[in-house]
Amino acid sequence: MSAAVSYERVRDQLERLGMESALSFLDTVLERGQKEERLPVEVLDDLLSRELAARFERRVQTNLKLSGIPAPKTLESFDFEAQSQVPKGVIEELATLRFLHQGENVLFLGPCGVGKSHLAIALTLKAIERGHRAYFLSLHDLVTKSRAAREKNRLELLLRVTSRADLFVLDEVGYLPLEKADATFLFEVVSKRYEAQRSIILTSNKSYGQWDEIFPDPVLATALLDRLLHHATTVNIRGESYRLRHRRQAGTESATIS
Ligand code: ADP
Ligand code: MG
Repeated sequence: MSAAVSYERVRDQLERLGMESALSFLDTVLERGQKEERLPVEVLDDLLSRELAARFERRVQTNLKLSGIPAPKTLESFDFEAQSQVPKGVIEELATLRFLHQGENVLFLGPCGVGKSHLAIALTLKAIERGHRAYFLSLHDLVTKSRAAREKNRLELLLRVTSRADLFVLDEVGYLPLEKADATFLFEVVSKRYEAQRSIILTSNKSYGQWDEIFPDPVLATALLDRLLHHATTVNIRGESYRLRHRRQAGTESATIS
């Protein structure tokens, strides 16, 4: 078979195999192989690596879209100097995602505006970048979804969605008190993930002692905390809202200038 026929066949087969990226890089890879006098196995390796890298990137982009992350926040854009309450070393350790591989939870506690959601999103992004599937939503959204699902008899389906993701992030726990049915559903979500040893990142403006205020039933609150905290890192952030502090600083500075 002539080289021209082989070339055509390779193009055709890559297309039929759905290896779009390998197809688009074929000429580059072949030319490079020739110029650098690469071995056939090296040329193949180059081609397949490019296909896999492109597939991984596509998966990351899809996972990012499906994750429900409200705004892109990164660890790089987190000002650790401004927030001395946040131990940088602990966050860096969390960013290795060892907690995710070990099925451990992460809880960010503290008042409004201190960066809990920022850190939760940043860790979620890290997980997505490394190929994990994440599902991010506020407790309010979970409650709304679960009420709608209950009406349509589809609560099981929602439970499956929340247990399947590699990482489940529950933001803003504590802003609204839960009704009995909502609290029970939350307990099921947490229990299912606990049994499957899958991680949860949770943010709350309430300390553990105040969880009785959110839950209609203290026994449920204790059982839930028990599961959440069994294998967990808690980051307590005290202090003032980042934005308020900045606004005030800006105010003082302009006051000094004028
Ligand atoms: P919380 O969830 O604790 O209420 P957020 O994470 O939503 O607070 O933070 C409020 C705003 O301030 C966000 O826009 C966030 O990006 C920003 N922010 C908070 N802390 C920091 C920080 N240390 N460095 C940079 N931005 C911060
Ligand atoms: Mg928040």
